[in-house]
Amino acid sequence: MKALVKERPEPGIVYRDVPEPPLKPGQVIVHVRACGISGSEVSRYRWTNAYHAGRAKDMTQLLPRIMGHEFSGTIAALGPGVSGVSEGDPVVVQSVIGCGRCDSCDAGLPNHCGRRVTIGVHADGGFAEYCAVPAANVYPVPPGVSLENVALLQPFAIAAYALEVGSVRPGDRIGVWGVGAIGVSIIQQALIGGATVEFAVGRDPARLGAARSLGVQHIISASTMDAPLRLLELFGKQKLDAIFEVSGHTPAINSALTLLKKRGRVVLIGNLREPFHADLLQAIMDQINILSVRTYSLSAWRRALALIPRVQGQRGAMPVERVPLAQGVRAFERAAAGEGVKFVLEP
Ligand SMILES: [Zn+2]
Repeated sequence: MKALVKERPEPGIVYRDVPEPPLKPGQVIVHVRACGISGSEVSRYRWTNAYHAGRAKDMTQLLPRIMGHEFSGTIAALGPGVSGVSEGDPVVVQSVIGCGRCDSCDAGLPNHCGRRVTIGVHADGGFAEYCAVPAANVYPVPPGVSLENVALLQPFAIAAYALEVGSVRPGDRIGVWGVGAIGVSIIQQALIGGATVEFAVGRDPARLGAARSLGVQHIISASTMDAPLRLLELFGKQKLDAIFEVSGHTPAINSALTLLKKRGRVVLIGNLREPFHADLLQAIMDQINILSVRTYSLSAWRRALALIPRVQGQRGAMPVERVPLAQGVRAFERAAAGEGVKFVLEP
């Protein structure tokens, strides 16, 4: 079969023939139909000093590897001992496999399991025609939801978890820094939950346009204005309930500490590009909650899957470009060049 392979610890990725995956007990073979390119994969494609300085998990010992952890497809084959799914079923893959025997796994948080295996990182993933995964990691696609849309469930699940951690309630006034797939998903779900999204900060005009079309009150382009200053002008101090930081820029946190009400919440999701410096005394006086999110809990994943039909008509709001897997190398080049769309590869 054909696959995109990260072969060596250097920039690049290769499209080539690989053997089809063997079918083991407890596993299913997924015929991959759509697999999103994530930001972490673009970093691994680039393999620059920034990739290592960013403390992203070094994959050197795991190469060669078929990446791809945001994917959907149909069940092509069932391994021994698998029940509850049938050949041909449309499914979406939850890519984190916990050990099942630790405190984190007991709590439904395989994202924190010390022995977790991530499909597309520690095991071959979805940038291929076929992928073998544990049957427990495939979830049926809700009726009426396309395989292309459900492939992007992971950022939607991260958003669901972030909103849970940020305790967002109906009537809350929130803001979002960063309008990639996660930021847009936070906006969509916050609005469904009855919050008001007061602002979104971003750089890419297409993505900011997507945020505007969803109903964000104030769209702020960080490329054309001083975003923290503009936010202070718009809202004044101590006005908002929760702010979500998905951009990786520390000035967003400093800004949030000023804008948040007493006992407000700032939720950190983006991988920060530099150390964060602040005088936190005022934040302590105001009892600001500084929270963080790493990927998603299993309950957030299930909640996101249940919610995705509600935004099916809106998913076009997130600029997505579908590209044949055979042209995946070019898609990685374009993503690495910073083109403002989410690429979905179709084997
Ligand atoms: Zn575990």
